[in-house]
Amino acid sequence: MKRRDIIKGLSILPLVGGSTGWAASLHDTSKPSPEGPKRDFFKELGVTPVINAGVTMTFLSGSLMLPEVLEAINSTSHDFANMYELQDKVGAKIAEMLHVEAAMVTSGAACAILLGTAAAITGTDHEKIKQLPNLPGPRAEVIMQKSHRYLFDQAVTTTGAKIIDVEGAEEMEKAINERTVMALYFNAAGKSSISHSDFVAVAKRHNIPTLLDAAADVPPVENLFKYQKIGFDLVTFSGGKMIRGPQSAGLLFGRKDLITAARLNHSPNEAPIGRPMKVNKEEMFGMYAALKAYLERDHKKEWEDWLQRTKRIGSQLESLQSVKIETVIDPGPANAFPSLKVTWDQTKIKIKPEEVLVALKNGTPSIVANGKDDHLTIGVVLLRPDQVDVVAGRVKSILQQAI
Ligand SMILES: *Cc1c(COP(=O)(O)O)cnc(C)c1O
Repeated sequence: MKRRDIIKGLSILPLVGGSTGWAASLHDTSKPSPEGPKRDFFKELGVTPVINAGVTMTFLSGSLMLPEVLEAINSTSHDFANMYELQDKVGAKIAEMLHVEAAMVTSGAACAILLGTAAAITGTDHEKIKQLPNLPGPRAEVIMQKSHRYLFDQAVTTTGAKIIDVEGAEEMEKAINERTVMALYFNAAGKSSISHSDFVAVAKRHNIPTLLDAAADVPPVENLFKYQKIGFDLVTFSGGKMIRGPQSAGLLFGRKDLITAARLNHSPNEAPIGRPMKVNKEEMFGMYAALKAYLERDHKKEWEDWLQRTKRIGSQLESLQSVKIETVIDPGPANAFPSLKVTWDQTKIKIKPEEVLVALKNGTPSIVANGKDDHLTIGVVLLRPDQVDVVAGRVKSILQQAI
């Protein structure tokens, strides 16, 4: 069966959250367009459309942009704009929305980490900006906790800076010297030897700027305000995760002098290290539209909708013998939302979770979910309303066939 036929068939079923929440306003592919069939680019290029029953993942194209974002992109694409002015205005508006001095749109959180580091190294010194990452003299140093080292810290070293690992506030204090330019905190590290407030306090005592990477750390929406209040000088969030802006956009916000310096290290300036990380005009408008829509959303209602989805899928699977379902909420700070955990007696339903995942992925439509040895995890927050029953039906039929 073709994807379109399945979706068409499903359009007569009641849809979870069909009349509420953000998902309802996503383009409904089951509705024929009045101008006749739309050009199908997936089909034209033979690209497999995927249902994401997991979490936001870069390799799976992040998240689906909100209708407000698409509107911003489409409606602004017919005129030119001066990019300096656009950055000024979008940045000022975002700063106002997030209660900080200044903000900018970057090409994702990884870019924000790089630009934040570059800003801390160069300030507004044009000579240094031109030379980065090949500054003469000893390398700049960025302090991180040992347990916070991660793949994305390459965005720090790309500037030529060196990372100094520390454990505990005392070691952090001792590590600070005249080469130290910044201290980076990975919010979702899981284990920290220094609390947020101690980290900020030590850095402030020595006048070292702090940057917090909270890329995937909404919901809850309050996190967009929490860390600047603690005293972090710069904070970054991805645009293309749960904020549902363009995948290649992100936010960097905080202290005005640092944002000014970060912008000097970025496009549309021609020479700096951030020039290859350009953000286009439509993404700037789109990021603004995404943040505005995210802040204005009814988050309680959205959460209820997610719980309803886990219940709806769960009740369909529970009808199979030995299947147990549980709504689990990730404690965060990344991906802190409900998912459905599914377990079964593998002597009665003779299939392993990993085999279910393969069958889901290789079927039509292709579905990506997660799982471990003894359970399957079905994510609900990235499903379009019409996909909730598709996912439930597919998982059920795969399990049923193994009885
Ligand atoms: C996703 C992520 C990034 C990278 O963000 P992009 O917006 O994709 O550049 C950085 N740090 C953490 C912790 C992330 O989860």
